[in-house]
Amino acid sequence: MNKITRQISIIRNLISLIGDNPDREGLRETPRRVLRSYSELFSGYMYSDIQIRRVLQKTFTETHDYDEIIVCKNIPFMSFCEHHILPFQGVCHIGYLPNKVVVGLSKLPRLVDIYSKRLQIQERMTMEIASMIFSTLKSRGVGVIIEAEHLCVACRGVKKVGSRMVTSAMLGLFREQAETRQEFLELTR
Ligand SMILES: [Zn+2]
Repeated sequence: MNKITRQISIIRNLISLIGDNPDREGLRETPRRVLRSYSELFSGYMYSDIQIRRVLQKTFTETHDYDEIIVCKNIPFMSFCEHHILPFQGVCHIGYLPNKVVVGLSKLPRLVDIYSKRLQIQERMTMEIASMIFSTLKSRGVGVIIEAEHLCVACRGVKKVGSRMVTSAMLGLFREQAETRQEFLELTR
């Protein structure tokens, strides 16, 4: 069996497991469509840590000594919880205190994209984004806040539609200095 046939048969089995017939007309092309959408939804696995660092290393040094907090807020994302393989979606706010270099504006959303297109838990994703920025940019501080709604909470189990989970990771001066953290929180409000 070649790779694609094997993958199709896995999705066909999943359809049977759900309780439907993978051979009925409406479902016949579904396995191929699912595979195509999975390769997009989970494209974050194509990036190694080294490649992610490379994305962030496109920096600018001509910052005119700008040394205040830089915030990129309301970055939308969709990810999948690793416990139920159901989507969770929301926004990510990122702030950092530059250390002589600033990163290109599109790079932070790229970073969120890469980490969200994997099976995730929100807590880990928050931390991964923060530590990658902190260690690659050698910034003086980093703060990441993620607010998201989890479909596994909204449509199954306790069925709480509209409840949002908020997680945050504060590193460097964002952790050590209350004023810096406060300023970041105000900027993301
Ligand atoms: Zn879940």
